[in-house]
Amino acid sequence: MKTEELKASVIGGVEAQRQQLNELSLRIHADPELGFQETRAATWLTQYLVESGFSIEQGICGLATAFRAGYGDGKPTIAILAEYDALPKLGHACGHNLIAASAVGAAIACKPVIDQLGSSIFVIGTPAEEIYGGKVMMVERGAFDHIDFAMMVHPGTHDTATTRALACQTLDIEFFGRAAHAAACPEAGINALEAMVQSFTAINSLRQHIKDRARIHGIITDGGEAANIVPAHSAATFIVRAEDDEYLDELKKKVIGCFGGAAAASGARLEYRWGGVKYAAMRNNLTLATLFKQNMEVLGRPIKLADPDSSFGSTDMGNVSQLVPSIHPRVGIASGKVVVHSPQFALAAASEAGSHGLLDGAKAMAMTVVDLLADPEIVSKIREEFQQGR
Ligand SMILES: [Zn+2]
Ligand SMILES: [Zn+2]
Repeated sequence: MKTEELKASVIGGVEAQRQQLNELSLRIHADPELGFQETRAATWLTQYLVESGFSIEQGICGLATAFRAGYGDGKPTIAILAEYDALPKLGHACGHNLIAASAVGAAIACKPVIDQLGSSIFVIGTPAEEIYGGKVMMVERGAFDHIDFAMMVHPGTHDTATTRALACQTLDIEFFGRAAHAAACPEAGINALEAMVQSFTAINSLRQHIKDRARIHGIITDGGEAANIVPAHSAATFIVRAEDDEYLDELKKKVIGCFGGAAAASGARLEYRWGGVKYAAMRNNLTLATLFKQNMEVLGRPIKLADPDSSFGSTDMGNVSQLVPSIHPRVGIASGKVVVHSPQFALAAASEAGSHGLLDGAKAMAMTVVDLLADPEIVSKIREEFQQGR
C-alpha cells in the first residue's frame, strides 16, 4: 500500500473509534483525578487498549497509575504519550482527558500499519504532569530507554506544531527569626517576615536584568501568626524558569543570592530546598513537527510550525524530548481569549471543539507514524537533527 493509502486507512481507523474515544474523554473529564491518583482514568484507558489487542504493563517505574501498552515487536519503536491528571478545584482545565483519548485512538488506528510495515507502537501512560512531573521520574527510571520517537498532542487555543516550554525548578524557602512583642519590645525580635519581604524586593530588582524568557514567581505560605508578634518564621514557594538548563542554573544562584542578602540584612536564618524534580526545556524536533504540520493540513487545519507569540510554561515532556526526538504540538479547542487552567478551558475540554481536536490530533499523530514507518530517509533526517542539537 502507498503512503497515502496507509494514511487514509489510519484516518478511517480513528473515525471508526469516534464514539468510544469521545466517551472515554468525557468519562475522564467528568471524574477528574489529581496527579498520582488517576486510578480510574488509567483503568479505563488500559481496558480499552487491552480490548483493542494491546499488551499492558501497569504500574511501571514504580508509579501505580503509569502504564505501557504495546503492539508489535519491531523497530523503530514509537511512543504516544497519554496524560490524564486534573487540576485541584478546576478539574480538566488543561484538557488532559483529550490527550489521553487522542493517544489511545492514534495508537489503535496504527495497528494495521504496524502489521504491514513492522515496528512497534506504545501508548505510555504518564501520570501527574501538572504537579509532580511524572515523566521526569519515568525518564530517570528508564521508561523511554527503548523508544526511538515520542509524540503527544496537547489542547490549546491555537494549532501549533511545536511548543515552547521552559526548564524549571521549584524552591521552598524558610526564614527563622525570633518572636517578640511587636510594640512593647520590637528590638528583641528578629523579623522573619521582613526578611521575606526584602527577598521579594530583591527578586523584583533582579527581574529587570534577566533574559526575556526567564521567569521567577512565588507566593508567601507563612507570614506570621498575629500582628502584635514579630514573626519568628516565614515561608515561601518559588518557581524559577529559564530557556535552557545552563541559564536556569545561573538564575538559581542569583535567586538564592536575593534570599541570602535578606537573611544577612535582617539577621534571620535562611533555609532553602530545591524541588527534587527539574523540568527540562522542550526540544522540538522540527523534522518530526513538520510532518505533523503537513498531516494537520491534509485534515484541513492550517497550522503554524512555531508561534513566536505563544505563551509558554513548562512541561515534563521537555525531559522526554532531551532523550528522544519528540513533538508536543498544540491543537486548538478554544478561542484565543480563553486561557489554559481556567474554568472556561475546562468547559472547552468537554465541548464539540474539544472532540474535534481530539480526533484531528489522533489522526495527525497516526499519519505521522505512517510517515515514520514508510520513509527510512525521514527517520535518518529526524535522528540527524536530534544528534546535531546535542
Ligand atoms: Zn497540560
Ligand atoms: Zn496544565
